[in-house]
Amino acid sequence: MGTRGREIVGIDVNHLLKLLNAAYASEWLAYYQYWLGAKVIKGPMKDAVAAELTQHANEELSHAVLVSNRIIQLRGTPVLSPKEWFDLSPCKYDAPADPYVAALLDQNIAGEQCAISSYKGLMDATKDKDMVTYNMALTILEQEVEHEEDLQSLREDLDLMISRGSK
Ligand code: FE
Ligand code: FE
Ligand code: MG
Repeated sequence: MGTRGREIVGIDVNHLLKLLNAAYASEWLAYYQYWLGAKVIKGPMKDAVAAELTQHANEELSHAVLVSNRIIQLRGTPVLSPKEWFDLSPCKYDAPADPYVAALLDQNIAGEQCAISSYKGLMDATKDKDMVTYNMALTILEQEVEHEEDLQSLREDLDLMISRGSK
């Protein structure tokens, strides 16, 4: 990154790079969890849910692009080996071992809630200190909030369908 661009970062850049690499690792894990969930899914509303999971997978990948670009701009290195993702990510990877729609929705809702907390943390750490990273975190956070809402509303529809259908 240009020298002036780096000078205006008011927090320790190495610490910031650690936070960014943690977010980067989480995005890849979220991407894979969604991507694979959309393939293995079974049960009612599976086509609608799979379409949403696939869309979210693509959006998680676009978050990884944003975060890696900022890491490189700060002259850091995005985590080089997927082996490190589990250790670095603040959000756990939940394997889609149970392919039932409700199980997949629940595990991805938990993932989004973790992502929301982690981008809130990145915003708190960069507020008034690194406007560029703050703005990126806000852009991503807006989409994570949307993801949580999308999944929770599908979960509600599924519950409604099951409770009405059984009467
Ligand atoms: Fe994301
Ligand atoms: Fe998300
Ligand atoms: Mg969506």
